[in-house]
Amino acid sequence: MAEETLFSKIVRREIPAEILYQDDLVTAFKDISPKAPHHILIIPNHLIPTVNDVTAEDEAALGRIFTVAAKLARELGIAEDGYRLMMNCNRHGGQEVYHVHMHLLGGKPLGPMLAV
Ligand code: 5GP
Repeated sequence: MAEETLFSKIVRREIPAEILYQDDLVTAFKDISPKAPHHILIIPNHLIPTVNDVTAEDEAALGRIFTVAAKLARELGIAEDGYRLMMNCNRHGGQEVYHVHMHLLGGKPLGPMLAV
């Protein structure tokens, strides 16, 4: 059984976060340490530690993440200019919180995809 992270507590509203969207499958909230003018994390409400742990049962929640990303981008006014969706996996991917999350970054030109 995987160990919960603070993101499960954000979903249950046990610790504070600026939640922009929540439904039965996913929660979207502002990143505490934004790397762009808009930096939002969109997560499945149930714990999936990494992309390596994804199964077919997760497809509804993971699909919803994209629907919510598009909706938030429209609402934030960044859809036309564009934005970046990013998901890190494990150590080489730079994952820090072991509850799958999509980063939605936008609000300025983001430059090349990888810093080298
Ligand atoms: P990762 O490196 O795992 O892909 O990204 C984790 C993200 O979670 C980081 O961008 C970090 O700033 C964010 N984060 C870590 N702790 C908290 C927290 O307590 N609240 C919020 N809102 N974001 C957090």
